[in-house]
Amino acid sequence: MSSKETFDYIVVGAGSAGAAVAHRLSADEKNRVLLLEAGPASHHWSRVPLGYAKLLHNPKANWRYHSEPLANANGRSLYVPRGRMLGGSSSINGTAFVRGQAQDYDSWAQLGNRGWSYQDVLPHFKQMETYEDGGDDEFRGREGPLRVTDPDSSDPIFATVIKAAGQVGVRHNPDYNGASQDGIAMSQATISKGRRMSTAHCYLEPIRKRPNLRIQTDALTEALLLDGKHCTGVRYTVGGTVHEAHAAREVVVSGGSINSPQLLELSGIGQPERLRGLGITVNHALPGVGENLRDHFAPRTRWSIGAKGYTFNDRGRGFGLIAQVLKYALFGKGMFGMVAAPLRAFVRSREGLEAPDLLLGWVPMLYESNPEPKISSQSGMTCYAHPMRPESKGSIHVTSSDPRTQPAIDFNFLSAQVDAELTVIAVRIARSIMTAPALAELQVAELAPGARLETDDEIIDWVKASAETTYHPVGTCKMGSDEMAVVDERLCVRGVEGLRVADASIMPTLTSGNTNAPSIMIGEKAAAMILEDASA
Ligand SMILES: Cc1cc2nc3c(=O)[nH]c(=O)nc-3n(C[C@H](O)[C@H](O)[C@H](O)COP(=O)(O)OP(=O)(O)OC[C@H]3O[C@@H](n4cnc5c(N)ncnc54)[C@H](O)[C@@H]3O)c2cc1C
Repeated sequence: MSSKETFDYIVVGAGSAGAAVAHRLSADEKNRVLLLEAGPASHHWSRVPLGYAKLLHNPKANWRYHSEPLANANGRSLYVPRGRMLGGSSSINGTAFVRGQAQDYDSWAQLGNRGWSYQDVLPHFKQMETYEDGGDDEFRGREGPLRVTDPDSSDPIFATVIKAAGQVGVRHNPDYNGASQDGIAMSQATISKGRRMSTAHCYLEPIRKRPNLRIQTDALTEALLLDGKHCTGVRYTVGGTVHEAHAAREVVVSGGSINSPQLLELSGIGQPERLRGLGITVNHALPGVGENLRDHFAPRTRWSIGAKGYTFNDRGRGFGLIAQVLKYALFGKGMFGMVAAPLRAFVRSREGLEAPDLLLGWVPMLYESNPEPKISSQSGMTCYAHPMRPESKGSIHVTSSDPRTQPAIDFNFLSAQVDAELTVIAVRIARSIMTAPALAELQVAELAPGARLETDDEIIDWVKASAETTYHPVGTCKMGSDEMAVVDERLCVRGVEGLRVADASIMPTLTSGNTNAPSIMIGEKAAAMILEDASA
């Protein structure tokens, strides 16, 4: 053991949420804050948006998890990337910026979580961003640390898909993070001047010299220290040396949806039988730890495009590639500075729904993803399509008392019949847009699932054989007041003092879209509640 220091607050995990928590807590110089991050400070690809493809499988910046073999994915074990560096998954993600719907947060509030309605969380969404483009100031922030922009929409392929969507009744909505989510739009992105806006860059870089903040990288937190039902600190290792740090006020666990439940279980907080079976001393029984796992299970429809010059396949090779490199180097534009899926549509599976329930996202190229993403030699587009609020629930649990052993991830996708039904409808809507008249001039032809697959059963069989996640696991330390809730509405771990969880794992349900913006909002709100409780 090398050191034993005391801080007021210890934050475990410097990802989307944890970086925001540490930023806000250390703004008051009286608060001594320790931020522990298992991964390194940075990676040279993490500032380039297209670096996403280079980091997707990179062990230097990624936990590189795999799921258990999944029954409804034909026994396949799915790849589960997670950021492992300052900024966490915000440093490796696809940079799409999506808040979700007002109804997502209103439903959390209706579950009994006071303070989480859309009206309650809206100020935090506004406070965290500087939206550089249009939008209504009632909904959008202009002074926050995170820079958000609209992508370059000048490529004709985007206008063509928007027009095709309009021909089947999906209207253009320039700001899906504003008054209404409905419709098709260019994807807003955590990109500014061609550079990725991770929480490492936006929340940590500007404050790294604060004397009351210590950011410790390459530091794996192995256990929470408990004195009875009170969390007093953490044990962590750096380069093989064990350290302990004590928290005079609180420990905040922000390790993300996979590592946060893992850390609680390693510390004896979870399902007693399971922990005892692994030789872990039970400190606090909490049956919900690791349960309620939700994610998006998304089939990728694939389309060839006969007309030349429209897709990144045409421009990402030979002289085209050189032109793209120059365009990025000189102007921060083109495919290297682009959000991973530049177009998205939020649509309804049937008339009469209060809000959209399906998400479609377009990538203006074909790519092979096995084992690593590689631009395809054929020219075309990829369009993924899935329900936004799946009801299937899985779990994440430790299988060993060793903190370096990855937990078992069982998504249990399509266990709720409604998810299968909605996925089929989403694929059919993708088809209707891609075969609308506006796209005919690009000579579009369906490659996958393939026009010969028509019945619901045929489509769902193809989904099971090919769908992947869109990397949005949430819910494994869910907020609530029922017996499966892990944290309460103040994000305090139920029955343990001095311990909160603040990251995507606290979401009771999946938000309608991508999860980076909601995770940062959770970090912002957690910090506000911690400061409020400290001054009460
Ligand atoms: C490849 C990929 C693409 C994605 N694309 C998008 C997108 O385009 N748009 C979008 O909105 N969302 C996207 N997401 C999802 C989004 O980025 C995440 O939901 C969000 O970042 C989660 O935030 P978090 O704070 O919960 O966890 P993370 O950001 O993952 O942070 C957790 C941090 O804790 C650290 N940590 C974990 N355990 C320990 C420990 N024991 N000790 C110390 N440190 C620890 C991790 O290394 C990590 O840095 C994507 C995710 C991935 C992986």
